[in-house]
Amino acid sequence: MSDALMPTYARAELAFERGQGPYLFDADGRRYLDFAAGIAVNALGHAHPHLIAALNGQAEKLWHCSNLYRIPEGERLAERLCAASFAERVFFCNSGAEALECSFKAVRRYHDEQGAPERYRIVTLTGAFHGRTLATLSAAANPKHMAGFAPAVDGFDQVAFDNMNELRSAITPETAAVLIEPVQGEGGIRVASPDYLRALRAVCDEFGLLLVFDEVQCGIGRTGHFFAYEAAGVAPDVMAVAKGLGGGFPVGACLTTAAVGDAMTGGSHGSTFGGNPLAMAVGNAVLDVILEPGFLERVERVGEHARQAFEALIARHPEVFAGLRGRGLILGLECRVPNAEIMAAATEAGLLTVAAAENVIRLLPPLIVEPAQIDEAVAILDRVAAARSEAA
Ligand SMILES: *Cc1c(COP(=O)(O)O)cnc(C)c1O
Repeated sequence: MSDALMPTYARAELAFERGQGPYLFDADGRRYLDFAAGIAVNALGHAHPHLIAALNGQAEKLWHCSNLYRIPEGERLAERLCAASFAERVFFCNSGAEALECSFKAVRRYHDEQGAPERYRIVTLTGAFHGRTLATLSAAANPKHMAGFAPAVDGFDQVAFDNMNELRSAITPETAAVLIEPVQGEGGIRVASPDYLRALRAVCDEFGLLLVFDEVQCGIGRTGHFFAYEAAGVAPDVMAVAKGLGGGFPVGACLTTAAVGDAMTGGSHGSTFGGNPLAMAVGNAVLDVILEPGFLERVERVGEHARQAFEALIARHPEVFAGLRGRGLILGLECRVPNAEIMAAATEAGLLTVAAAENVIRLLPPLIVEPAQIDEAVAILDRVAAARSEAA
């Protein structure tokens, strides 16, 4: 690896030259089944013709134009996101962490406008991941990610995931909001139960707090709903979205109710690149496909096929795999042996996956994946697990 890069990543000795659907190809033409999908970013797989047409079409007209001017494609994308969710206002940015930074600012600003500037603290949950900026690191409070970056940004109080007693006792007159990923990604594909999300909504309403969902990883169709929170039948006040929204083009968004979004008055926030015409053209093209009638139902069906196929895999190799977590096409394979060893062998055999906490292997295929390609991934993991058992 080049010394010219900061050594922040533990990179595999692999470089891909091109992609097609759920497959990636290296320079030697070797094919890999991509169940990492850029960490849930390539929602429509690689080289999707509709995304290519949108990007190329916009590239010939206008790449960038500042937010000093109207950007019609952005107005259209915001309106479509609002029509398909709880939201009434949208701010566009370029990443998940930025979408959360906007969420934190909107939370503070809302309470300030309400005449309660002392309310600025956000309750967060163990196992959370919200990004790598100072505020998002402070929110997640993962000591490994925070090492060497002290002091933390003030204003975050962490409580145990799925523990309402602890959460209630953390609420003070300074509390402004509760922040949760409806499905924790990095934390090990931990799904917040519908009851838990409903209880969080109720406690927020009781204490006048805002409920903030981080759907950067689990949103945009991955669970079989457009947004994961729909399964619980409760809505947040603020939501951060990114990863799948641009299908590989960097696009993030902070979605809010009108009451919260309108507190972000002129000059209160901004982004040079956020919501530029190229990004908005691609975001609209992603929505064209994902919101097409039948697409999300298909994700649910293929997700059910995947669930059954992976459950059967686990049953065949109980000494290697312990269980399955997740929903739709955001799945986590619990391992009894070090997840990194299985993942390395799978990569060697042509299947790409992502690690998560709690010794879980994340399976995040593009949403366009076919049942036969799920079976192909299972067959690879079957061979990997069998080879391991023979060696033992
Ligand atoms: C990836 C991720 C983020 C951070 O997104 P970036 O684009 O890397 O800043 C935030 N929250 C969740 C749940 C994520 O999965």
